[in-house]
Amino acid sequence: MALITKKPRGTEDVLPRDSYRWQFLEKLFRDEARAFGYREMRTPVFEHTNLFERGVGDTTDIVQKEMYTFLTKGGDSITLRPEGTAGAARAFLEHGLHNDPLPIKAYYLTSCYRYEKPQAGRLREFHQFGMECYGTQDPAADAELITAAANIFDRLGLKNISLEINSIGCPTCRAEYHKALTAYFAQYKDELCKDCQERFSRNPMRLLDCKVPHDHEIAQGAPTVLDYLCDECSAHFEGVKHYLDANGVAYTVNPTIVRGLDYYTKTVFEFLSGDIGAQSAVCAGGRYDGLIEELGGNPMPALGFAAGIERLLLTLEAQGVEIPLPASCDIYIASMGEDAHQKASALCNSLRKAGLYAEFDVVGRGLKAQMKYANKIGARFSIVLGDNEIEEGKAKLKNMLTGEQSDVPLEAEAFINAFTQIKLNDEFKGLEEKNN
Ligand code: ATP
Ligand code: MG
Repeated sequence: MALITKKPRGTEDVLPRDSYRWQFLEKLFRDEARAFGYREMRTPVFEHTNLFERGVGDTTDIVQKEMYTFLTKGGDSITLRPEGTAGAARAFLEHGLHNDPLPIKAYYLTSCYRYEKPQAGRLREFHQFGMECYGTQDPAADAELITAAANIFDRLGLKNISLEINSIGCPTCRAEYHKALTAYFAQYKDELCKDCQERFSRNPMRLLDCKVPHDHEIAQGAPTVLDYLCDECSAHFEGVKHYLDANGVAYTVNPTIVRGLDYYTKTVFEFLSGDIGAQSAVCAGGRYDGLIEELGGNPMPALGFAAGIERLLLTLEAQGVEIPLPASCDIYIASMGEDAHQKASALCNSLRKAGLYAEFDVVGRGLKAQMKYANKIGARFSIVLGDNEIEEGKAKLKNMLTGEQSDVPLEAEAFINAFTQIKLNDEFKGLEEKNN
């Protein structure tokens, strides 16, 4: 057999047997977002290209090299979203959300697209959970956002995750810092990689972020931004640290964190996992007070983060964190003969309407094969329906774990009542045994 094609490089399928892992994470994200007053926002998977050129910044790697951009039949330039912040900010402006009570808090769970070299933890289609907060300058908001991310990693039971924070100041203090950086890197200009030579004049801070080993080494000796912060930015950074301390969130200050977006101001941070190799950033974010204005709105401070879901799943796996298995089948109704098949089908439907997970044979298997299947899907109870049972209007319900049997009536309502009672008793017994 020859498949006509395989999935494109850098993409992943989530199979039915694994999707519970994603759903577990997604539910945890949603619960955590809710606890912090964030509501979900959904934006298109594609946007006009200029949104990302402006919203992500045209000196970034994302815009320079990684975007999936194409012309539509109508001749518009469209780009698949490489991240979630720009689209969220666009929607925020387009729908006048700045009129809502501040701060405005939104979260998203989305796919992102970047034309990168695929490797462990680096995909071309990947997924992010992100939180965006608009309308506050207060350092308490920065700390609140970082705390939300920290709580998620806590709740997941992850260890060996470190939080690194920095402040990259506002445009005023950064002008001075850029001068100092330019003077420093000028000494090494010929040794820098080709990309950095270009970045040098356009955005010298980007050089601190270069992953080429020699450039990285040079960057280690660069002047630190923290020495150039103006009084306001400095006080803001102190404030963020104090609130993090108050929340019991551990961090280290790393002055080389600059982040990939051009419009970051003041706070920037990353959560790093010690267990997944080179692609170690599982979450990154900060403050971008210039973004809304850059997109044509009135000035409005903003901040946010994005966490990479695939990298989080890799971390969970590497640390052996167990994700609870989804609930298995409540009951399998095996059947023999046409009347019994129909009864099985109808009973299953009633059970499902009552919120239970029920299965019967839809493949035309014999009784033995049906029971084998019931075992495979981990059914907790089963019954076997044949002509006798149909005639008598009752059957034996079997607990697949203990082998215990009880008579149950086959009339739908009575059946569900009896079954629910038996299932509850069984769960209660299980709990009691666990506690003793
Ligand atoms: P990196 O330095 O690893 O390239 P980045 O700075 O480009 O990351 P962001 O744009 O800040 O990353 O995205 C936030 C998070 O999304 C990252 O911390 C990471 O967990 C995840 N992420 C980014 N790019 C990818 C990718 N190509 N594949 C999988 N996850 C990714
Ligand atoms: Mg990147």
